Amino acid sequence: MADPRDELQQLVSEANRIVAFTGAGISAESGIPTYRGDGGVWNTYDPARYAEISNFLADPGYYWSFFREVRYPALRDAEPNPAHHALARLEEQGRLSAVITQNIDGLNQEAGSKRVLELHGNTRRIACMTCNEVYTLDEVHDRLDEVFPPDCPKCNGVLKPQVVFFGESLPMQVLEDAVRETRNCDLFIVVGSSLVVQPAAALPPMAVQEGAKLVIINRDPTPQDQLAHLAFHENASDVLGTVAPSP
Ligand code: NAD
Repeated sequence: MADPRDELQQLVSEANRIVAFTGAGISAESGIPTYRGDGGVWNTYDPARYAEISNFLADPGYYWSFFREVRYPALRDAEPNPAHHALARLEEQGRLSAVITQNIDGLNQEAGSKRVLELHGNTRRIACMTCNEVYTLDEVHDRLDEVFPPDCPKCNGVLKPQVVFFGESLPMQVLEDAVRETRNCDLFIVVGSSLVVQPAAALPPMAVQEGAKLVIINRDPTPQDQLAHLAFHENASDVLGTVAPSP
């Protein structure tokens, strides 16, 4: 039987339009914890309290405690890993047309990926809900020492990361672009997603329905493994590092 890594290499070299779909697992090796599973954030912080929009508005302090203790230290220290770099190289080589990401950490862009469709926003941008001024992580972290929960230094409005909270809609244009990329690709590679969050999890079956080959690289099995041409239950960087190795 053919070595699955050789098969993946062949699929990648034959493809004209690859789309990658990244989830929290691709950033686990960069030190950003996933939500679910061993070491997942949700074992210690209740997502219904910090990431549900009405609860956030009722008690922003719970979110900002989570930000101070978990999110800020992880993001401040995180660097893209070989899996992020491999996707950036595939785009540079003209093989990959887009990264669709559920992630909110900006690491695909930091690795050099240009076309990144962020379905859930980006937690590195924090905006005032009143005057729309945007602040960086560091600016808001500094503000925490003066005011808790932090408010907008300009107008004292409520600050909120530009991410999609539970109870909010996904950005329509980004979703439409993601669907278009999915329908037009010939190889769809899932990297580090449990494939349980909708509507993002609807994209891999859509790609297959339109005739693309599906590859899933996720440490744990997913409910969509049976749809995949190849499914790797390994670390993302070990697998992707072999198809687009560092120069
Ligand atoms: P998830 O937490 O549901 O699943 C992550 C998956 O990654 C798991 O199934 C796990 O087996 C796998 N995994 C862990 N380490 C891996 C590795 N080294 N290599 C390959 N796979 C690995 O994540 P999800 O499917 O992205 O969905 C949950 C939501 O979590 C998304 O909405 C996303 O916005 C959010 N999230 C994002 C970040 C981030 O931006 N880095 C972090 C946590 C959660």
